[in-house]
Amino acid sequence: MAHPYVMNMSVDGIKLKTGWSRRDFVRALLLGGVAMAAAPGRAFAASDAKGKDLTRLYAALVKELNFCRKSAWAGEDPIRSRLRPATPYKLLTVHHEGQHLNQHRLKGEIAADIQNIQAGHCKRKYGDIAYHFIVDQAGRVWEGRSLQYQGAHVSDHNAGNVGIMLLGNFERQQPSEQQLTGLNGLVGVLRQVFPIPADRVYGHCDLAQTLCPGARLYPHIARMRTAG
Ligand SMILES: [Zn+2]
Repeated sequence: MAHPYVMNMSVDGIKLKTGWSRRDFVRALLLGGVAMAAAPGRAFAASDAKGKDLTRLYAALVKELNFCRKSAWAGEDPIRSRLRPATPYKLLTVHHEGQHLNQHRLKGEIAADIQNIQAGHCKRKYGDIAYHFIVDQAGRVWEGRSLQYQGAHVSDHNAGNVGIMLLGNFERQQPSEQQLTGLNGLVGVLRQVFPIPADRVYGHCDLAQTLCPGARLYPHIARMRTAG
């Protein structure tokens, strides 16, 4: 739901006016940083990304969402020799953790969860945690694998595919309201940065034979896709 930002402030040199909508706010942030970094008439793509441009994207996420950079969970450095540079992002896929019930809400608990997931993925010879973003039950969005690198979350469909994972097992539990709000916000920002149409917002089960992201989360993703 759009709501006006009743404030007058400067963000990265852009003056925000009283009454701007949330969408205008995000667009201003991105135009001030990410979108203008791309060639005219072309959406920003991670393949264009030099570190500085991605820094601006992540800064926009920090301003718009309850976003935690990788340093907040003390992730291990990626093993770059196992990673592929990203190609332009055109779709995104939502997953669940799919293991035990996860009711964790404290930052320290979540950080430990994400560290464990990264360790498990690296044991399986991945170069880093497989997903670009993780959303917890409290609605925080955590940075996973850098968008500079292709994800490793859907066999044969990783090119140009942003990977988002929600902590929990949604065959057995409901996603929290805050978690769905965090997911909505993240997808909204990503869709304004990358040319990802609504009908390319997928659940893992749309692209592979799997229960992921779970029967209690999937209807929300289906709604996001049809809402446009
Ligand atoms: Zn999955």
